[in-house]
Amino acid sequence: MIEKGNDRYIKDIEKYLKDSLIETDKASTIDELEKIYYQYLGRKGKITYILRSLSSLPKDKRPLVGKKANEASKRIEKFVNEKKNNLKKKVVEKVLKEEIDITLPGRQLQLGKLHLITKTINEIVDIFIGMGYKVAEGPEVESDYYNFEALNIPPDHPARTLQDTLFITDKMPLRTHTSPVQIRFMERNKPPIYIISPGRVYRRDNIDPTHSPVFTQFEGLVVDRGISMAHLKATLEVFAEKVFGEGTKVRLLPSYFPYTEPSAEVLVQCQECMGKGCSVCTRSGWIEILGSGMVHPYVLENVGIDSEEYTGFAFGMGVERIAMLKYKISDMRLFFENDLRFLKQF
Ligand SMILES: [Zn+2]
Repeated sequence: MIEKGNDRYIKDIEKYLKDSLIETDKASTIDELEKIYYQYLGRKGKITYILRSLSSLPKDKRPLVGKKANEASKRIEKFVNEKKNNLKKKVVEKVLKEEIDITLPGRQLQLGKLHLITKTINEIVDIFIGMGYKVAEGPEVESDYYNFEALNIPPDHPARTLQDTLFITDKMPLRTHTSPVQIRFMERNKPPIYIISPGRVYRRDNIDPTHSPVFTQFEGLVVDRGISMAHLKATLEVFAEKVFGEGTKVRLLPSYFPYTEPSAEVLVQCQECMGKGCSVCTRSGWIEILGSGMVHPYVLENVGIDSEEYTGFAFGMGVERIAMLKYKISDMRLFFENDLRFLKQF
């Protein structure tokens, strides 16, 4: 290179400068820019080589070549660095704008919740637990004995037609009410008895806004010394106030059930019109919510409880009906259709 003339060096520097600027302009990654930098300014770079060769030049030529090489070196470095910063900025902008748009709202976790029927059962259970009751449960496939006979409903009894029954076999119905749980519990436990038994029951009903072949019942049973109709009414008044609000009035109407004597239908004052009469209560001002009565002496004797010593009351209600009244739901089918738009509201 010693033979190389002064002019040749100047021309090389100009060419390297021009080439490096074009390459830098075209570069689209940080890697490419680093390669360009080392190609010209690295330890074995083209400009570096010229600077190192200065000593081999005639003394009077050295300043000009040196000056040109230094200027080229500074310009290449500056240009490469500027381009590097631009690329980095673009990467950040891309990430912010497209790949992770930090301005979008986060994805919410879908939390499950209890079905309104379960919620209503829990609410009712809480009320009675607060009054000292215990929860008792029984099978959904029952024997004829527990579902009917022990409850004072013999085979030829007309009451069997009141509850159209679904059968697994001739002697094995799906329970038509939760009352068999009373018998099962009384067989194993001596009075005093204070129990509630929520659960699914089955009847041969066609599905419509107020009927379903499967629904949920809630049953209560008390057997103790000196229990009277007054205890029943007071208990139901507390229940009605807790579920439907303070001051809710309760009314008992004579009725008939084979397993209670006397029997009563229980009505609550219509919360929609406060007893004045509206479409919800069919203009009567009252809504029937449950059936109840004093446990029939035959039922007590069937499980070996002395009906002279002990008396008791029982009541049963449809949980769907309570939920429909409380949350103003007009169609029972909504509970079973599993439409999240409905279920999420509660
Ligand atoms: Zn009303």
